[in-house]
Amino acid sequence: MTQSKGLEGMRAPVISHGCALIYPPLYPASSSDESPIGYLVRLAELNCYGSTRWMCAVGQLPRLSELHLYHDLLAGAGWTGWGTETSSISAAVCLVDQSHRLGRLRYCPVCIRETQRWKAAWHLKASVVCAEHGGWLRDTCPACNSPMLFKARSTKLCKCGADLSESALCLAPEAVRRQQGWLERGSVSRALIAAGHNLDLQMRSELILLFARFVGRDGMGKTGIDTRVLHMDMAADVMIQVADALFGGTEGFTRFLDTSFSVSASEQGERRLSRFYKAFYGSFEDGCFDPYKQLLEQYLNEHWPKALSRRNSLFKDRTIQSHPWLALQAACREFAVPKSHMRRAIADDAVRSMSVQGPKRESVLVWKPDVARLKEWLADALTAKDAADYLGVTKKQFGQLRQNGYITYQKALGSASRGVGAFSMEKLSGFLKSLAHSSSAPLEAMTMNQALRRFRAGVKEPLMIIIEAIKQGSLGAYASSPKPTIRELVFDSHLFEDWYRERSSDSELFSITEAAKRMGIHQEFAYQLANTGLLETYSSNHSSGQLVSQHSIDKFCSEYVLLRDLAREAGRSSASVMNDLASRGIQPVDAVWDQQMRQKVYLASNLRGFLRGLCISSVGAG
Ligand SMILES: [Zn+2]
Ligand SMILES: [Zn+2]
Repeated sequence: MTQSKGLEGMRAPVISHGCALIYPPLYPASSSDESPIGYLVRLAELNCYGSTRWMCAVGQLPRLSELHLYHDLLAGAGWTGWGTETSSISAAVCLVDQSHRLGRLRYCPVCIRETQRWKAAWHLKASVVCAEHGGWLRDTCPACNSPMLFKARSTKLCKCGADLSESALCLAPEAVRRQQGWLERGSVSRALIAAGHNLDLQMRSELILLFARFVGRDGMGKTGIDTRVLHMDMAADVMIQVADALFGGTEGFTRFLDTSFSVSASEQGERRLSRFYKAFYGSFEDGCFDPYKQLLEQYLNEHWPKALSRRNSLFKDRTIQSHPWLALQAACREFAVPKSHMRRAIADDAVRSMSVQGPKRESVLVWKPDVARLKEWLADALTAKDAADYLGVTKKQFGQLRQNGYITYQKALGSASRGVGAFSMEKLSGFLKSLAHSSSAPLEAMTMNQALRRFRAGVKEPLMIIIEAIKQGSLGAYASSPKPTIRELVFDSHLFEDWYRERSSDSELFSITEAAKRMGIHQEFAYQLANTGLLETYSSNHSSGQLVSQHSIDKFCSEYVLLRDLAREAGRSSASVMNDLASRGIQPVDAVWDQQMRQKVYLASNLRGFLRGLCISSVGAG
């Protein structure tokens, strides 16, 4: 088919980039999906020029790598019918990045048979099938097997004379054909890419080439420039996988992730996945890719063994936030958990962790939900010092509260016995609440400090005595503020004095010296009685010695009799009374002891007959 425009202006060569086309006798118009080089080959063949070089009136034709120049060249010659608009596939292929184009021709034998034209899309590395006929493109001569070049004498014949159009059509899988339709026209069918995207040919091609770099790379390290897409013998296989990943729905994309990276098995896989993620997220920001990204992030969260720290700007925030494994240090920082607590929690299995051998050193990853739980637990947990401050007591008093069982150590989060133990703020608060009976302070208030000072020197743990009395309800404490500490509790001074006097009468404790005075015995003897256990003592505090209660003194006096007192009552010498008792077989308690007592002491129960004779009941307190 030839056209004759007959317009003088159209015949004048327009020089573009140092080249101008001749006005050939036969000039059928180019087709909107035709390769510009293919068009010139077709014209040269039609006009029997033997070479496209003859198509030049001025200069030389641009090189294959300068395909964009052909757009201006053909558009500049009106008789070519080459559209000036850049939306056609022909123009788009010219303008696409050179790296997306092939150095050799791919062709569809059926297209050539039917039209003798080369399609523009055949320039693209991403093109592997004929969008129209659905067969695999070819890039070699069916007869001599030599690669097909763009620099040709004929659109139809190989150098060897074989007719390319006679090659058989080999149908490609449907997903690959869908992919080709998307590449050439942007049509979306059964793809995860949202319809209504606005991606140009460059982006569409780039997406396919990106996936082609990674598909089926499992176990293969190379991820650089992919030579697999350059020749059809390999490209077909690669593109089947790409099409499955991009146009095989959720299953296809998941399959791609599983078979291309094997993240959990090899470090190479991890590195490859990082690179893929970086390239994918870096270049494909359009929202139409979100369905893929969601699947990818889900996959990362499930399989990625490394921590996604914030420092790793590679990954999107949402991936990082939902990723359950965190580097230990990052976790400590993010959750403001002291490292020592974290380590103990890990040792207790309260926080799950794993070690990852990095290129330089081993690092520890922690399971984020566990850390969050630890954080929650720690928020309620106080150290002993903080707990003492919270209660408003000294460290020593806090120790007493613990010893007396008012405050208990919280068990660790984990199963192990000694772990991140602490004091529960909630429980401490409950303890404080149980002490203050009323928030209205009494008329004549007595502060806790005044109450404590009320106790005589030598009385051990007066705070515990007060707390015990409050707990038992024999002493009422009042809150001087809405949330009082122990130090801030107040008492009604009259009620306190009443309680104090009553309590002192039966539970007051004396030092050994005081007890000796009360018993009318020598201090040293009193110590002997205490040390041998004849006199019951309380050794609540080691630093200030033993204490004796009135009850102990009474008990001693009812159970034992001093030889001194027996002799005095009998009006006889101690020696004679002792002999008398010995003759009845009654010995003092220290008779067989290594250490003799300062005074002789007899068990009252042994002396019943003797005492009756003396009319002595017992030794009274002095
Ligand atoms: Zn075709
Ligand atoms: Zn051939």
